[in-house]
Amino acid sequence: MADTMVDPSPFGCCVAVLTTGGTIAMWDDEKAGGAVPQLGAADFAAGLPADIPELRTEEIVNLPSSHFTLETLEAIRVRVADWVERPDISGVVVTHGTDTMEETAYLLDVTVPGERPIVLTGAMRTASGVGYDGYANLLAAVRVAAAAQARGLGAVIVFNDEIHAARRVTKMHTLSPATFQSPAWGPIGRLEGDRAVIQQRSRRAVLPWHGLARDVILLKLAVGVGPAALEDALSHGARGVVLEALGGGRVPPWWLPAIQQARERGCVVVVASRCPSGQVWDAYGYSGAYRSLVDLGCLFANDINGQKARIRLMVLLAAAQTDEELITMWADVDE
Ligand code: ASP
Repeated sequence: MADTMVDPSPFGCCVAVLTTGGTIAMWDDEKAGGAVPQLGAADFAAGLPADIPELRTEEIVNLPSSHFTLETLEAIRVRVADWVERPDISGVVVTHGTDTMEETAYLLDVTVPGERPIVLTGAMRTASGVGYDGYANLLAAVRVAAAAQARGLGAVIVFNDEIHAARRVTKMHTLSPATFQSPAWGPIGRLEGDRAVIQQRSRRAVLPWHGLARDVILLKLAVGVGPAALEDALSHGARGVVLEALGGGRVPPWWLPAIQQARERGCVVVVASRCPSGQVWDAYGYSGAYRSLVDLGCLFANDINGQKARIRLMVLLAAAQTDEELITMWADVDE
């Protein structure tokens, strides 16, 4: 049954709003020739109604999310982990550019322990444009962060009055305010007026946090593409590679020697799918299909896309002492 109560959270009366930039913070600037991040938490708060929980705010950065580095992600993770521990906080909202929001959401989901909800939101239209969606999204995010029934959800993206699990959600449209969708799964809940309605819950695994390993690349397969980029990455010391493979986890046979070389050098190879949803698995017997990749010791990214698989691999390469430990932790998240 759907859970629709809006109990005051026993965890605390305030919501932390941590700002990082993105279109939600953007205003047209004539000199720059377009919108750039300018707004901060005080501007956001001024646009919200009075009947919301008290806000505590912090600016982490004020950048387009395409300018984020791994250091930016690590800084966001550290600040969120700090805020969720504070006794007066019921939940944490992170305002963020939509371009890489799903990666930050997934990182927070798999590394920040605790029951308090972590809610990412943003906007697709700038604050100086007609139809700015920033206030509506932020208000919805604050309501979810304050809702008792959102406890234990982990990290979610709240956008266009929908609540999406970090694991499932992806940016589906370059311009639409309804850009965030969870292909094949749908949202786990919705905002209906001031009520958060949660309809799906799933188990969440939290991994140890030792930062993000560097030198982990993401490569996408397409018809007729050769393995030169993988060979190049190996010659530059790649520690991990995520292949967005075809269908249920398939590569052309001419990729297999480079994948074998990667494994022999101790580089972890994760196979994701370039399909937007589904398990990585097949029952084919031909060369380059799923079983060839199992035989080469690849790991598989079930139901997470390539960019999230890369985040998980960077977390695990930094946390695991051995290959065996990494393989065990990789599987734990999927159980
Ligand atoms: N370019 C923006 C970003 O920072 C897009 C957005 O926020 O919608 O990701």
